[in-house]
Amino acid sequence: MSARTGVVYLVGAGPGDPGLMTVRALELIGSADVVFYDRLIPPGALDGAREDAELVYVGKAPGRPSVPQEEIGEQLIEAARSGKSVVRLKGGDPFVFGRGGEEGEALRAAGVEFEVVPGVTAGVAATAYAGIPVTHRDDASAVAFVTGHEDPEKTESAIDWDALARFPGTLVFYMGVKRLAANAAALIEAGRDAEEPAAAIERGTMDGQRTVVATLGTLAEAVEREDVGAPALIVVGPVVQRREALAWLERRPLHGRRVVVTRARAQASGLAATLRGLGAEVVELPAIRIEPRIENDEVRSAVQKIGDYALICVTSPNGAHLLFEALGAAGFDARALGGPSRQQPGEAGAGTGGPAGTTIAAIGPGTARALASHGIAADVVPERFVAEALVEAIAGIEVSGRPVLIARAAEARDVLPDALRDRGAEVDVVTLYETVREEPSADAIEDAQNADYVTFTSSSTVRNLTEALGERFPRGARVVSIGPVTSEAARAAGLEVDVEANRHDIEGLIDALLADAPR
Ligand code: SAH
Repeated sequence: MSARTGVVYLVGAGPGDPGLMTVRALELIGSADVVFYDRLIPPGALDGAREDAELVYVGKAPGRPSVPQEEIGEQLIEAARSGKSVVRLKGGDPFVFGRGGEEGEALRAAGVEFEVVPGVTAGVAATAYAGIPVTHRDDASAVAFVTGHEDPEKTESAIDWDALARFPGTLVFYMGVKRLAANAAALIEAGRDAEEPAAAIERGTMDGQRTVVATLGTLAEAVEREDVGAPALIVVGPVVQRREALAWLERRPLHGRRVVVTRARAQASGLAATLRGLGAEVVELPAIRIEPRIENDEVRSAVQKIGDYALICVTSPNGAHLLFEALGAAGFDARALGGPSRQQPGEAGAGTGGPAGTTIAAIGPGTARALASHGIAADVVPERFVAEALVEAIAGIEVSGRPVLIARAAEARDVLPDALRDRGAEVDVVTLYETVREEPSADAIEDAQNADYVTFTSSSTVRNLTEALGERFPRGARVVSIGPVTSEAARAAGLEVDVEANRHDIEGLIDALLADAPR
């Protein structure tokens, strides 16, 4: 259900891991007219917002005071009254130390309707990621969420330290790092055991989550020594010890490894998500961008006679998608490939499986999958993912004197067309796209500096990234290449290749990286 106009949605965005946002939160962000958001929301949380949605930052800017609470309330009221659907997006849960209660009250007083979408609160999320169960049959039958930072204008402490010292369960302090030493002393003074296990969890569920374990008496010192920064939670209770048996985050194969992904932004997400799932911190440093080049006579004329080709070679997933885009632009679809040059049974190129028509060769499994998404089962898919392997794989197809189409990128090598011409084929080479240099952002370059790995999935990413970064290429990182052609380009660019995939596709690259990362 999409966001209703005139209504304000107080929405929790979870503790930081984008995967912990609720389905309802994503749905509302995707349909709202305006989103008011805080600083502590997950990266990419607003990616799904409508293109014409208004995105208003109301958080605290570093070194500047936050937008006063009344002002936020007024902005929400005004937006709703002007007939907009409004999402107010907050870190964690809106009603757990999120001032969602105050905003709801202001809205009700103004006669504006609101709904609340709970979020995963840091108190259970950061702890779970740290392997600390906030309750446990043997250790804690209650848990208290406590603010460690009171409203400085309050004259009397609202925290009853005696009651908290006696509380029969786990204490979870939000906003508790700055005043940790004073709060711990107050608890011990009120009778809580200084030897009780305690932990600070920094950046819970985010890249670089860190957990520091000590005792109530020593945690402040440990936090100081380890330089624990915001956001962080403090946990006090015997459950902290369960971490020894339950820690899991740190056991993931690429935990703590920073990996640079250099693929074009549009293609990076699969690789980045897989690496994150394995525990890596991913820095996306796209070195190239795909610029379609299907609006030209060469492509148009090839498309018009597409059914006449005896063989069509598609050399990348981008090529596959753009070939079908060009077909679509000319008013055709996959049926155009079953054209007049249909080979007769017994002729070379038939007998390879599916219904005969134009024989389609894909350079590798990724390209074959891209073709399949357009309803075409490739007849030929070589095991190895390089032009030479494709040349071998099509050796049995009769091409002498027959038209062959090679649909590919502008900067491709000539291995394939040369080999086919040598065999007497009438080869048309069409360029469907160009890969152009993408200038990486200063932030991403900075993040890449202490990377453990830089992954390269094509020679164009190597050339463009090394040229774009120059001296700022992270020299300490190990270079991972998808295959021999990419490795060659890396060496030509002055890099040493540390890891080369045995299978020249994304899965192969990940396998090689995993094999290299010491446990
Ligand atoms: N509404 C939020 C809490 C806001 S108060 C929620 O439900 O989680 C801000 C405090 O929450 C921070 O000072 C810190 O103590 C805690 N916090 C928020 N996100 C955190 C995270 N990812 N890791 C550790 N603590 C976090």
